[in-house]
Parts: sequence; C-alpha cells; structure tokens
Amino acid sequence: MRKLTNIEGLEVERRYLQVIDQALSHVEKLATSIELLTPRQRDMTIAFVGALQSVNALLSAGSAKCNLATPPEDIEVTQDKSGALILRCYHSPAHKWAWNGQPLP
Ligand SMILES: [Zn+2]
Repeated sequence: MRKLTNIEGLEVERRYLQVIDQALSHVEKLATSIELLTPRQRDMTIAFVGALQSVNALLSAGSAKCNLATPPEDIEVTQDKSGALILRCYHSPAHKWAWNGQPLP
C-alpha cells in the first residue's frame, strides 16, 4: 500500500495519517495470511474483518475524503469481486483505487 496522502484524489487529516497507514498495512498483512489458510481456519477471517472495520473507522475519524468530484465523499477499504483489497469512495459512480494507489476503471 502506498501512503494514503500519495494517492491522487484522496485527502485525510494529517494527524490521523500515521495510524491509518499502519492500519492499512495491518489489513494487507492479514489479507495475505488468509490466502494461505484453509477454509476451516476461521479465526483469521474474523481478525481480518475486524481489521477492515477498524481501518474504516479510522478513515472516518480522519475525515478521509475523495475530492475527485464535488462535494467530497467518504472513502472506505473493501474487497473487489476477486477478493483484492481496494479503496472506494461513495461518489456515484464510485472512484476506486487499487492497493498500489493506481486508479481503477
Ligand atoms: Zn470519488
């Protein structure tokens, strides 16, 4: 994951930046771990879902916004249909970014 501030179109309160970047890194590590697990190992899945909720709460606390359209809208971390982690905003249609920070179509 790139640093959140290096992603074009996203802004966040600076004082939340470090903890959000750490939470994004944590989510990424858990997602990678889950890929190695069998379906029966559910505890890690629960930890992953909890980490997703935590990072999204932090994005909200830090007023993370997409400013690619007006008015700016909230953003969240979610998974695409393949399970890959992405960032998505609440504009309609939504702007989306891959985990490396590149815009998605
Ligand atoms: Zn947007």
